[in-house]
Amino acid sequence: MNTIEHWINGAATPAGSTRTAPVFDPATGQQRAEVLLAEASDVDAAVAAAGTAFETWGDSSLSQRTKVMFAFRELLVKHEDDLARIISAEHGKVVDDARGEIVRGREVVEYACGIADALKGSFSDQVSRDVDVHNFRQPLGVVAGITPFNFPIMVPLWMHPIAIATGNTFVLKPSERDPSASALVAELYAEAGLPDGVFNVVNGDKVAVDAILGHPGIAAVSFVGSTPIARYVYDRATAAGKRVQALGGAKNHAVVLPDADLEYAANHLTAAAFGSAGQRCMAISVGVAVGSAGDRLVEILERKAREVKVGPGTDPASDMGPVVTEAARERVVNAVTSGAEQGATVVVDGRDLKVEGHEAGFFVGPSLLDRVTTEMDAYREEIFGPVLAIVRAETVDEAIAIINANPYGNGTAIFTASGEAARKFQREVKVGMIGVNVPIPVPMSYYSFGGWKDSLIGDSPIHGPEGVKFYTRAKVVTTRWPHTAAGFHFPTAN
Ligand code: NAD
Repeated sequence: MNTIEHWINGAATPAGSTRTAPVFDPATGQQRAEVLLAEASDVDAAVAAAGTAFETWGDSSLSQRTKVMFAFRELLVKHEDDLARIISAEHGKVVDDARGEIVRGREVVEYACGIADALKGSFSDQVSRDVDVHNFRQPLGVVAGITPFNFPIMVPLWMHPIAIATGNTFVLKPSERDPSASALVAELYAEAGLPDGVFNVVNGDKVAVDAILGHPGIAAVSFVGSTPIARYVYDRATAAGKRVQALGGAKNHAVVLPDADLEYAANHLTAAAFGSAGQRCMAISVGVAVGSAGDRLVEILERKAREVKVGPGTDPASDMGPVVTEAARERVVNAVTSGAEQGATVVVDGRDLKVEGHEAGFFVGPSLLDRVTTEMDAYREEIFGPVLAIVRAETVDEAIAIINANPYGNGTAIFTASGEAARKFQREVKVGMIGVNVPIPVPMSYYSFGGWKDSLIGDSPIHGPEGVKFYTRAKVVTTRWPHTAAGFHFPTAN
């Protein structure tokens, strides 16, 4: 049995851990490895290594830091196949989809390669006689990231390249369900020339998370995961005086207007609802069919949902793999059952799907529920599986009101041929990331990613310019050459 260890101070190590958790291959339902679960003392060891590394890395030159980022980027390209296979084996998503998350994560590394530009300060000449003002930003110190299972490489990559390129040192606590990608990332950083202790990985569960949240040696915590844990992390870590960015769960709506190309909209809704078995924070889980779009849209969606090929992620013919655990499979099945019991029409039922040769895998087929209402549990809960709920609305105003009443506000999309409707939608909807004829509007790395309401606790989105701001703090310097006589009055410009 392969045991996945921590990575502390430039080497794989069991540290003092003895507890383990199983890591499954969701396509077979078999355990493929075990992962060590850190104790608080293991977190201490990682923070100590990161603290020592910060003494030199925090003072390293921009060219030294970007040199490592360029090399790391090349290694991510070189090892794309290995990474994609590791992700697919532990998460279950199809290999091509895993490649997609590697590419989107790599874009953040590319942004970090240009960190010199992002870190440029400003300078004001002669603000007063012989006086100039300039500002610059410095790293915080040791920072930590706690990440979810659904993007085992991309979500950590939203954090550590920017943290490290801005001069911080990093402790990552990846999801214990699919930890192997982070172990390879640690090796790639070392190969890229990153000094020991700058990037550390501590595997674990709540024990490791709690140790991070209260640790006096950690200046900031980045979290991505479900909303209840995001709130917990935010409360605990801010109470301990840390800077926190905490991204939570989602229930993303796609509005389809009658003037949209319904075939195009249905194609995109199908991929956005069932891709990665619906386990994306930007997955479309609710379609809001407006007016006469409804019946025709559901008809096309039914056909497309039935065409989705479900199978192991390693089979190039599969569109969609299994969900991550048996518990996740049961949650999806129960959500469809509760929808049916509460009056939704089950147009496509994925509950009983079996994949030949993979009977023990955590597979569940795509489900399409129609005439879902906002009171039903299938609407109110984040199912995080391959279930698309269709809600009917009479007007675009009603569709916007439905979205705005939902507690989540991560992503949303509108499918329409009307520029006027699209403009109204993007101005009125209370959601952080909006697509117009684009179903999964994940911002590019040089913008920042973050939702509104319960999808983001606090006020700090992730990566891009907001990421640079999060991992640094500013100084403003006022300089006078030459010295002039001091006055007792409060200094004003002259
Ligand atoms: P999760 O909240 O269960 O776990 C996230 C992290 O928190 C993991 O590292 C886990 O070990 C840790 N954790 C779990 N329970 C904990 C507890 N009780 N105390 C302390 N730490 C705990 O999330 P998940 O199931 O891994 O991922 C799916 C969730 O993440 C979904 O809700 C999804 O919407 C969300 N997500 C959001 C975004 C976003 O950008 N907003 C991106 C990806 C995933």
